Amino acid sequence: MNFIHFVVEQDLGSVESRCSFKELTTIGCGGEIECTYFPKDIPSLQKAYNYIKLHNLRYFVLGNGSNVLASDHFYPGIVICLKRLPYSYEKKENTIVVSAFYPTIHLAYDLAKEELGDLSFLGGIPGLLGGAVYNNSGAYQDNIANHIIEVKYIDTAGNIQTIPKELCAFGYRSSIFHYIEGIIIEVTLEIERIATKEKLDKRKKQRQLTQPLEAKSMGSIFKNNPLIPSWKIVDALHLRGFKIGDAAVSAKHTNFIINLGNATSNDILSLIHLIETRSRLELGIILSSEITIL
Ligand SMILES: Cc1cc2nc3c(=O)[nH]c(=O)nc-3n(C[C@H](O)[C@H](O)[C@H](O)COP(=O)(O)OP(=O)(O)OC[C@H]3O[C@@H](n4cnc5c(N)ncnc54)[C@H](O)[C@@H]3O)c2cc1C
Repeated sequence: MNFIHFVVEQDLGSVESRCSFKELTTIGCGGEIECTYFPKDIPSLQKAYNYIKLHNLRYFVLGNGSNVLASDHFYPGIVICLKRLPYSYEKKENTIVVSAFYPTIHLAYDLAKEELGDLSFLGGIPGLLGGAVYNNSGAYQDNIANHIIEVKYIDTAGNIQTIPKELCAFGYRSSIFHYIEGIIIEVTLEIERIATKEKLDKRKKQRQLTQPLEAKSMGSIFKNNPLIPSWKIVDALHLRGFKIGDAAVSAKHTNFIINLGNATSNDILSLIHLIETRSRLELGIILSSEITIL
């Protein structure tokens, strides 16, 4: 693949040809990938992305893979994997400028150490900040959009663009990045001085009690509707613990599907479709998933 030669020649990072989505996602499912690209830094990512777009190559942007279910089939393209990129944050007066590659759990704890801002809702979300912006991740009635001032991303020409929060079209588990192509690289967040360590520790215990954190999963599968939380819908269908192959509805939290060991993406998808169909036919409720299915 010429892309591999380009990356090596220009020293833009590393490429691997034997990775699979199984290793790169928290659910541990999915097929092999033709080429996985790990950028060295942002200028390298700009050049590589520009090359990919100019040559019309198939690609997918992956953060920590905690919200992605990829097909079991071979992926004939490039996965741009952001999780080895360096990350940091810079404090300004009432804001912090944070790399989009910052793991969100670390960010919540690192800021709590300095008593900066209340991002405690991120304390149990195992993604990178860019992934949180993409989906407007949230918990405990808070979400990342509430804290954002602006977002920087690389556009399809390889240039860096800045968009203010008002143009990010944030919604429930959604943002403008569902509709435009680009790679989020930096996020400016509003902060105040606030102590959150205690809140983080309390929520960590709460998550450990209520979520199957010991198992491979993608977190919640279905978006909640305003009338009834999705876990109650799955429970009403008596699907707690129900299995297809090695994919199971978690007994601890029915909006989580877990991989018991050797689940395929097909097993997981079949379970998702079964829940969606039964919810529609038996309860008249249309569920929609919050994960990216590739
Ligand atoms: C145990 C567990 C608990 C969870 N709890 C929650 C929760 O409470 N609330 C919640 O909202 N989510 C939760 N999640 C889901 C998930 O962690 C979040 O959606 C997270 O923000 C995804 O980030 P990621 O880096 O893993 O993104 P990925 O899964 O790698 O990618 C998700 C999507 O974002 C896109 N994307 C990722 N990074 C970028 C980027 N830099 N630029 C452009 N596009 C990008 C990808 O192309 C993909 O479409 C949970 C998951 C697990 C496994």
